[in-house]
Amino acid sequence: MPADSNAELLRYYEVYETIGSGGFAKVKLGRHILTGEKVAIKIMEKKDLGEDLPRVKTEIEAMKNLSHQHVCRLYQVIETSTKIFMALEYCPGGELFDYIIAKDRLSEDETRVFFRQIVSALAYVHSQGYAHRDLKPENLLIDEDHNLKLIDFGLCAKPKGGLGYELKTCCGSPAYAAPELIQGKAYIGSEADVWSMGVLLFALLCGFLPFDDDNCMVLYRKIMRGKYNSPSWLSTGSVVLLSQMMQVEPKRRITVRQLLDHPWVMKGYSSPVEWHSKHPLGHIDEDCITEMAVRLKRSRKSTVQLVSEWKYDHTTATYLLLLAKKQRGRPVRLRPDVPVVDIPASPPQELKSKTTLTFGEEAPSPSPLLLLSLGPPTDRQEKDAPWGVFSPKPLMENPRQIGVSEQPRAKVHPSPGRDRTHAEEHEQNKENLTILGSSQKDGDTFVLPAPRTPASCRKSTRSNKASLTTPTSYGPPAYSPNANRGSVSKEPLQCLDQRTQGLLEVVALSPERRSRSLDMATPQTDSAQKRKGAKVFGSLERGLDKVITMLTPNKKRALRDGPRRIKAQYNVTLTSQLNAEQVLNQILSILPEKNVDFVQKGYTLKCSTRSDFGKVTMQFELEVCLLTKPEVVGIRRQRLKGDAWVYKHLVEDLLSTCRV
Ligand code: ADP
Repeated sequence: MPADSNAELLRYYEVYETIGSGGFAKVKLGRHILTGEKVAIKIMEKKDLGEDLPRVKTEIEAMKNLSHQHVCRLYQVIETSTKIFMALEYCPGGELFDYIIAKDRLSEDETRVFFRQIVSALAYVHSQGYAHRDLKPENLLIDEDHNLKLIDFGLCAKPKGGLGYELKTCCGSPAYAAPELIQGKAYIGSEADVWSMGVLLFALLCGFLPFDDDNCMVLYRKIMRGKYNSPSWLSTGSVVLLSQMMQVEPKRRITVRQLLDHPWVMKGYSSPVEWHSKHPLGHIDEDCITEMAVRLKRSRKSTVQLVSEWKYDHTTATYLLLLAKKQRGRPVRLRPDVPVVDIPASPPQELKSKTTLTFGEEAPSPSPLLLLSLGPPTDRQEKDAPWGVFSPKPLMENPRQIGVSEQPRAKVHPSPGRDRTHAEEHEQNKENLTILGSSQKDGDTFVLPAPRTPASCRKSTRSNKASLTTPTSYGPPAYSPNANRGSVSKEPLQCLDQRTQGLLEVVALSPERRSRSLDMATPQTDSAQKRKGAKVFGSLERGLDKVITMLTPNKKRALRDGPRRIKAQYNVTLTSQLNAEQVLNQILSILPEKNVDFVQKGYTLKCSTRSDFGKVTMQFELEVCLLTKPEVVGIRRQRLKGDAWVYKHLVEDLLSTCRV
């Protein structure tokens, strides 16, 4: 990653590990330096975006216009010459998709809690004139209070004449797409969203999809017929609601408004779904303004003016994150020990008229002309200029960025069959601590019929994170322990990623899944060649089993600090053991056997699997931790990249082999 991109981001944020990756973005955990709040930082490489750049712009513009308790909040946009960064509300609970997978399926009562939040988000989004057009459990994240937040507005549409106007672009994920949409007909965005919500509701209640098939055309036919099997455990009320939502004829489909007080939605509740925003756009909070004014040595009035420009720069981020602190009942305070970057302090005339500010006192506001030259550009300027252009400062100007590079060094433990030099390990370690220059592209593909936009194409190539599938359609688990065997490289992981980015093969997938991606993505001759290539490559390299295990001083230190103490959550497997060291050692011994590469940082193992071509097929974390209730050792799991089903089977296999 070029220094300029890094430096720009690191002026405002500390950047930590990768927490997810999508079709064209990598998402990292970050901390906003001035408020100390955690954020998710979505990182996009401009050169990789190509013709999908408009999609990112769409997402940013939509998110700037949306502020709702169940929509992920955008705090800041940073554009450099090579990258676009979005600082977003951090949702530590992961994707709803993984939550369903972890639980197999949800009870009707738990589903209702989530579904009410989904209805609330969509009613709001529609009320703002947007259709989301890519609703699925991967695009709903769980926040720290176990509430849902809608993400990924890259495919959303805001018809000029309002939501009642027809749209033409066919986009989204096929399994969730409405019949009128896959037929290429003009459609109403909000009606199509209701269909997708129906598929989503079915997935929550059943743990698999209502319409699914390896063959795209068969899948389309199933969707257009609108026939699906309702499992016996569904209540009559659920069956009725699902049929109202997955109604092939859009005009006969239930509307979001009708869902707000639908009998199924109301069961156990005394009021309809509250869809109005609890935090409307443009609301100015006095406490946050006061704190900022004091810190910036500005008058409250001019601070209000500055914040009210809503430029989604550092001012917006600081204000919104202070507000988030307040909403969680925490003190509305900026960190006193850090300098304020890129928020204009008091303009000269304020200083002239008042040198010290006390609470409630208003200094004269600067003239509009002065504001223009000192502060951020006006709306009009913003529209014409590239978004969020900043003057880069050298990396070392920000002392806190050292926090990023000061993280304890990690060690790469290649799986059998791969041997790396110290320099290569160092490269890999850097990847875990800083922002990666390359974004990984994934091979799983869904292709919708014409008309297709570049955006829909890219979205369709989104990660191996395919979609929920019917149990019958996939038979045996997709994970094959031997799938990765023999992928050898003497190159740093990062280089390998870049070199293999173009490959469509996802070798670690089951034959069923492989045929799905190949059928739809590549001409048969191509795929046949690639399959052949994979086989030859794999067999040449097989048998080179070598494991490097070294304890660096940093690793020893990290281990000395002991495992983290956490509360039991859905993604934590309880063990029957009390000794964390022992559990860690068991896992460490099993990973190489299962061809899983890992990087160890104390009690956390960053794991990855690769295809025979060296392409990363899966990334996940395992962390040995201590639980408080009950007092046992637990293993926290988190999928970062790759097919959720494959991940599920792999982790189950690992943990059962460990016999913890
Ligand atoms: P893309 O636009 O490339 O598809 P996404 O916005 O879907 O990327 O993000 C990719 C993944 O990163 C998500 O599926 C999720 O796991 C993770 N992620 C995205 N936003 C957040 C967030 N605000 N908090 C936590 N994780 C996030």
